[in-house]
Amino acid sequence: MKPEVEIYDTTLRDGSQGEGINFSALDKLRIAERLDAFGIHYIEGGWPGSNPKDMEFFKQACRRKWKNARIAAFSMTRRKGIAVESDDLMRQILEARTPVATIVGKSWLLHVHEVLRARPDENLAMIADTVRYLKDQGKQVIYDAEHAFDGYKDEPEYALATWQAAERAGADCIVLCDTNGGCLPSEIASIVGAVRRKLSARVGIHTHNDCGLGVANGLAAIDAGATQIQGTINGYGERTGNCNLTSVIPLLALKLKRRILSTKSLPKLKELSEFVDEIANVRHDPRQPWVGQTAFAHKGGMHVHAIDRVARSYEHINPESVGNYRRVLVSDMAGRTNILMKAAELGFTLASDAPETRAITAEVKRLENLGFEYEAAEGSLALLIRKILKHQEPPFKIEGYHVSNRRDRAISVCQASVKVLVDGVTEHTIAEGDGPVNALDQALRNALVKFYPQLKRVRLNDYKVRILDSTAGTEARTRVLIESTDGKEEWGTVGVHDNIIEASLQALSDSLEYRLVKK
Ligand SMILES: [Zn+2]
Repeated sequence: MKPEVEIYDTTLRDGSQGEGINFSALDKLRIAERLDAFGIHYIEGGWPGSNPKDMEFFKQACRRKWKNARIAAFSMTRRKGIAVESDDLMRQILEARTPVATIVGKSWLLHVHEVLRARPDENLAMIADTVRYLKDQGKQVIYDAEHAFDGYKDEPEYALATWQAAERAGADCIVLCDTNGGCLPSEIASIVGAVRRKLSARVGIHTHNDCGLGVANGLAAIDAGATQIQGTINGYGERTGNCNLTSVIPLLALKLKRRILSTKSLPKLKELSEFVDEIANVRHDPRQPWVGQTAFAHKGGMHVHAIDRVARSYEHINPESVGNYRRVLVSDMAGRTNILMKAAELGFTLASDAPETRAITAEVKRLENLGFEYEAAEGSLALLIRKILKHQEPPFKIEGYHVSNRRDRAISVCQASVKVLVDGVTEHTIAEGDGPVNALDQALRNALVKFYPQLKRVRLNDYKVRILDSTAGTEARTRVLIESTDGKEEWGTVGVHDNIIEASLQALSDSLEYRLVKK
């Protein structure tokens, strides 16, 4: 299916510029996999050469098969006074081995003079050389025109000349960027409209949310004929963020009726939004349009049936179309559909009215109330489903453990001992580590590797801790999310407890158990 509007995700590059957002290479891969499965058309992985994490991402990404998305690497036009083929930036972007190269360049004469300190014609040559060079290397080239609107308002002929230079050199799409986020929708619409008549290449839009207009400006551009929109999941990004794709996608699909994604994707939007927040270790914004927890919450007080009839008139869309649900009526139904979808993904066949399905739903609800979160912890969810379906005994049992921490002058030493039971055999191991969780992980792994050598390949890639609210008046709880990999696949597991060591052990144990039981 050819989309009417292309969705270009830059969560992993522009989004990661946001304050408090930090992705490891593995985080980036996990997010990219989800974006691809969702049907996003382009995923910008980062700026190769800007840091080792981005290079690692591209190294892994070029070995994978992407179902829907084309992976893009970001860079800028060649530097002033250097031949394009001898510029390090070009070597780095080629090393990323992506089908798409996205190049940012200057449109605003002010920036050409003051920031680049280059002559206007030199900037035009820098743009043309870079685009042509990458086209010659077989890349699809997307040209991001920085400060496009400010540049155009200042010196329309020059701004247009830079875009025409990119177009003549073969750029596949010219993306007009409202880099400082200061434009109004009416300005965006009139400039995009005017420019589109002068360019034959596809025109795209990249907006920022500094005036709270990131999404509105993106849509204004689409309305004026742009056919690619760049943004981030949950609107992550520098300052107040980028154009929020989590809003743009349902707006395009449901309100403007544009053909953009497979119809199966949209009901997974809320899940995608929560997953990315979970990986970024950011609390999901309950008031986020479309996907927030309160987006379709109605104050009760009426008879349930009356609410059912009346609520619809208070809702601008059917919440289920984006995977959300009406909050007054959080019946078992919504929860159950989710469980069935998850179970099917994990290879379990369940009927919606089976007693097991009800039991799993009830258990997930109970655990979610305790602070568990399964969006990014598919490993733990699979184990939970498995336990209730009573497939077979778990491959090991932790009988006991002990962790100690002592400091000898400047050196602090952590030691952990673990006792595990496998097939009636007890194994007791001791290990040291740089922290209690690391020591515990070592001890548990050493004990299990004797029985299950395949666990040697499992590595912990990330460990995230979140202190949960104590609104219930109980002690604050700790949630630990662990991301593991065996070199082929990644999975997440979760643990929750008042005690951080206990929470960590749950997640660690789930991580190893999941590797042993998964198909
Ligand atoms: Zn940007």
